[in-house]
Amino acid sequence: MTGLMDEGPRLLRGGPVATAIREQVASDVAAFKDEFGYQPALAVLVVGADAPSLVYLHKILDGCRLVGIGDRLVELPADSSEADVSHALADLQADPRIAGIIVQQPLPKGIGLRAVIDTLDPMRDIDGIHPLNAGLLSLGYDGFLPATAHASVEILRQSGIPISGKHCVVVGRSNVIGKPAGLLMLRENATVTICHSKTEDLPAIVRSADIVIVAIGKANFVTGDMLKPGAVVVDVGINVVEGKLVGDVHFESAARVASAITPVPGGVGPLTNAILLTHLVQAARAKATGRIPLGAHSLAVPVPEAN
Ligand code: NAP
Repeated sequence: MTGLMDEGPRLLRGGPVATAIREQVASDVAAFKDEFGYQPALAVLVVGADAPSLVYLHKILDGCRLVGIGDRLVELPADSSEADVSHALADLQADPRIAGIIVQQPLPKGIGLRAVIDTLDPMRDIDGIHPLNAGLLSLGYDGFLPATAHASVEILRQSGIPISGKHCVVVGRSNVIGKPAGLLMLRENATVTICHSKTEDLPAIVRSADIVIVAIGKANFVTGDMLKPGAVVVDVGINVVEGKLVGDVHFESAARVASAITPVPGGVGPLTNAILLTHLVQAARAKATGRIPLGAHSLAVPVPEAN
């Protein structure tokens, strides 16, 4: 056993960073209200929500209340049409106090994401689902980032983990986590490999990584024997196994090999919601001042200039 393994890995906890971000957001919201005379609000639109996703959404809305951001939940029945969803979005966007909108995914069958993004104002798209924001990210410009991808990279930055020049393997290529996390790591000058369900010899690729970001939705999938000794592991996965929350990484075996790892729960999750609040404040300010052209507003944390 090496000294590293004897001591165990450094735990990268999202909670303390999230608390610091929330304090900053509360003060930014108070300053916003003084300056513009109204309370910015977040709206969440759900179509036929199931119970677990409602719990998650209520957590986001509760978080808004704690920092002085207004909150609005709009629930549409599961048999709503695409036109119903578009109308609900348009109604929300008629209210200038609604600074940001989250549309809960997945949407019920029969409602295409297209119906949402054709109506959603990209300047209110604080979870980065609109193609305009995705395009800005892929070109290396500022825009709204998907909050979970943002959190998975931010936890590394806030923990002072060196990223530049390192090989980062992202496992998972969803539009909301894997892909944007890979693009963000590229922006941080990591050398990035993105893996997915068709990747051949995934363990060998993961074993070559200095930093591994895992977002696949498969409990305990990445095990310690798939990691390079000393690797840094960001586990984005949230799975329920026998009533307990576990990540996509098998924590016990990974912790014997990794130099640093995010726990589940308590790693990326808490940071995601706090980061969403920072996006909301930026959206509110951009809307209220009208000075900031689309896509040019700065991120919660400055990122390097686009190449
Ligand atoms: P998703 O849309 O289902 O995408 C899963 C990705 O994983 C896909 O790209 C898929 O590949 C890949 N994949 C699945 N099985 C694989 C395998 N055996 N080997 C390699 N790649 C595999 O999931 P998501 O929305 O990105 O969510 C991923 C995880 O993050 C879930 O556990 C979710 O609960 C969690 N999550 C966490 C937070 C947070 O705040 N921490 C927020 C949201 C979601 P293909 O593209 O080839 O199908």
